[in-house]
Amino acid sequence: MDLDSLYQEVILDHYKRPLNKKLEPNPTVQVHHVNTSCGDEVTLNLHTDGRVVAKISWEGVGCSISQASHSVMSDLLKGKSVEEALGLVDEFQKMLQSKGIDAGNEEHLQDGVAFAGVAKFPARVKCALLGWMAFKDALQQSIAKKR
Ligand code: ZN
Repeated sequence: MDLDSLYQEVILDHYKRPLNKKLEPNPTVQVHHVNTSCGDEVTLNLHTDGRVVAKISWEGVGCSISQASHSVMSDLLKGKSVEEALGLVDEFQKMLQSKGIDAGNEEHLQDGVAFAGVAKFPARVKCALLGWMAFKDALQQSIAKKR
């Protein structure tokens, strides 16, 4: 495994100083997701009015890839419209499932493109996707709630 490309500086930075890693009270929806293949766990609190993602906060344990990815996700998707946020989750997921072919659109995914290299390590893809899938689940639950 090429650790240099896997643990890029951006990932290490987010791992050491994770953003939004403190659960905000009274969320619209709270979800808990687990990646059993690695042992990563995340609890995610979503605050939304159904149109805009107001706040994403989280607590979790796990490997540096998962922790850094939660941090990037929570920072990138906060303040986005619901449609925009879901589009970005899909883009991130496509990049990670491309086996390294899709380098990601930096303009859209910003720090998220640092995880493009993870796509070459199938065992770690779930680590990087965990928080994003938790967010998507929470958002879909929040939309269902409003109906
Ligand atoms: Zn992991």
